[in-house]
Amino acid sequence: MSFFRKIRAPFHEDWCNECGATMDVMQKQLFMLPVMVDQYEPTKKASYFTSNLIKVGKKSEIPVGYYACGAHSYRCPDCGAKLVRLSVFLPVRDEEKYEDFIFFKNGEMDEFLRRNYDGK
Ligand SMILES: [Zn+2]
Repeated sequence: MSFFRKIRAPFHEDWCNECGATMDVMQKQLFMLPVMVDQYEPTKKASYFTSNLIKVGKKSEIPVGYYACGAHSYRCPDCGAKLVRLSVFLPVRDEEKYEDFIFFKNGEMDEFLRRNYDGK
């Protein structure tokens, strides 16, 4: 591991925090967060997301004024570290207005994502 890779890691979520390698995206899934615009209360609790997120196939299935949440599972090809990133955003026309990013390193979302995965 080079020093350069190590120091830039914190600035990019797809670089492994442990060793600095670029992580592979293992799984992506889109969800709706049934919370209306401006009602989202930032939280880091996995249980909040596992009990509220509703799997959707595409953004157009989310009613106007509600939040979307993208889940990305990453795995480091070098050291095997895993990371799940949730991105809470508001789909506004063609844009995505990001509200929050939540990271889970300890598998908190794994079981939920396994059950709610389209395989795309
Ligand atoms: Zn790594």
